[in-house]
This record gives sequence, structure tokens and C-alpha cells, in this order.
Amino acid sequence: MQLKLLKSIVEILTNKQSAMIVDLLIGKKDVNEFLIAKKLGLTINQTRNILYKLSDFGLVSFIRKKDKRKGWYIYFWTLNITKSLDLLEQKLREELGRHEVQLKSRKEKRYYLCKTCNIEVTEEGALLNDFICSECEEVYQLSDNEEIIKKLERDIFRLNKEIESISEEKAKEEEKIEDKKVKKSKRDEKKKKGKGKKSVKKKPARKVKVKKRPASSKAKKKKKI
Ligand SMILES: [Zn+2]
Repeated sequence: MQLKLLKSIVEILTNKQSAMIVDLLIGKKDVNEFLIAKKLGLTINQTRNILYKLSDFGLVSFIRKKDKRKGWYIYFWTLNITKSLDLLEQKLREELGRHEVQLKSRKEKRYYLCKTCNIEVTEEGALLNDFICSECEEVYQLSDNEEIIKKLERDIFRLNKEIESISEEKAKEEEKIEDKKVKKSKRDEKKKKGKGKKSVKKKPARKVKVKKRPASSKAKKKKKI
């Protein structure tokens, strides 16, 4: 599911061919751009253009390393799943908004159609032209709003489902990130405890300092003398 969603956002922003990039980046970190180009069957410049575009939207990030032999930089790319899902959700919500506006309008207003030109106008537009098409002079016919309303309602249902599944995927992703954080803090805790033990071992060193004290007091005494 996640793969499909991530591909659809890349497809919206670039094209269908570029969406394959998701297959190469998902579940991986710092993927060599030459490997991506090879797998996509594109030149390195074509590949970079896609990746730069996706990085403008924050969907991918990169690190670069200098190739010591050739002297140029190689970029290594990582997919930002949360950001990609956010952007996809935003796009779908915009589409949903447009559909809802259309649905409301179809329920409230009448539209007229010239079947010859396949041009639709609002009732006001049709009235202005005495219900005659300005292009071909054919008489306008009332549009079948019912069919359009059914289609819009189906699309709205589908969009809501998709947005719902994105929310689920986002929750899963956040859980993963949270898990990683917990694991990391546990590791850090262990390290700290490890250091704690070391500092316990260091205690005898303090005794050494204690031993030094009489020496310093001797020194002071010497000064006094
Ligand atoms: Zn016409």
C-alpha cells in the first residue's frame, strides 16, 4: 500500500516512468545515483533532474561524497516517506475540495450542452446566447447533471478512502520513527550506564589525589617556611 501511495505522488510531480525511482529508494538509505540511473535506464543527467525536482518538494534528500579517483561529487539519495505521504495527502485534499465544489454546483445549478461542439455552458451563459451555441448555432440541450453527480460522488468516495489510507500509513511511519527513537534512547542509556561503570572504576584515582594532598600541604608548609 505504502509503495503504491509513494509512487502516485512521484507520478503526480514528475511522470509515470520516474515513479519507478520509489522501488529503488524505498527501505534504503543513501542510494548511489549512478545505480539509480542504471536501473532506470536513464542518463545520469536525466536521473539527477528527476531527483532534484523531487528534492525541491522535500521528497528526497541527499548527501554527496567526492570520488577520490575521478575528482567529482557523487550524490547519494534517501526517500523521505513521511514528507511524501504528507504531500500526497495535501494533493488529494485539494482534489477533494475541487470535487466538492463541483458537486455542490451540479446539485444547485443547471448546465447546457452543445452536443456537436461538446461544449458546456452555465445557464446564464446559455441564456445570453438565447440557448444557441455561439460556435455552431446548434440549440443547447440541458446537461444530465444526475450522471455527473453520480460520478463526482464516486470520485469523492474514492478520494476519501485514499486519504484515509494515507493517514493509516502516516501513523505506521510515525510509529516506526518513535520505535527508532525509543531504541536509540535505550542504546544511549546503556552507553551512559557503561560510562557510569567506568567512572566507578575511576574512583581509585581520587584516592591518588587524596594521597597528593599531604604533598601539597607540605608544599604550603615549604612556602610558609
Ligand atoms: Zn456548438
